[in-house]
Amino acid sequence: MINKTQRIMGLYFVNRNPHTNGKNEVHEASCRNLPGKASLINLGDFKDCMHAMKEAKKYFLNVDGCLLCCRQCHKK
Ligand SMILES: [Zn+2]
Repeated sequence: MINKTQRIMGLYFVNRNPHTNGKNEVHEASCRNLPGKASLINLGDFKDCMHAMKEAKKYFLNVDGCLLCCRQCHKK
């Protein structure tokens, strides 16, 4: 059984296609807005979106957290 509150690591992805605002969005694997696999770069497992964002910045200059799954890291 998976207890979501006890899950400390999450698998994160970054969309290789920039959003209309020019930013590449970071998503957690369980996001319901997760783009198709062909658009995703697997960032790996992180304990929070802050760490995932750091990794995503190695690929893209302008990254942002998804509003749905990475609310803590979402700017605009
Ligand atoms: Zn998302």
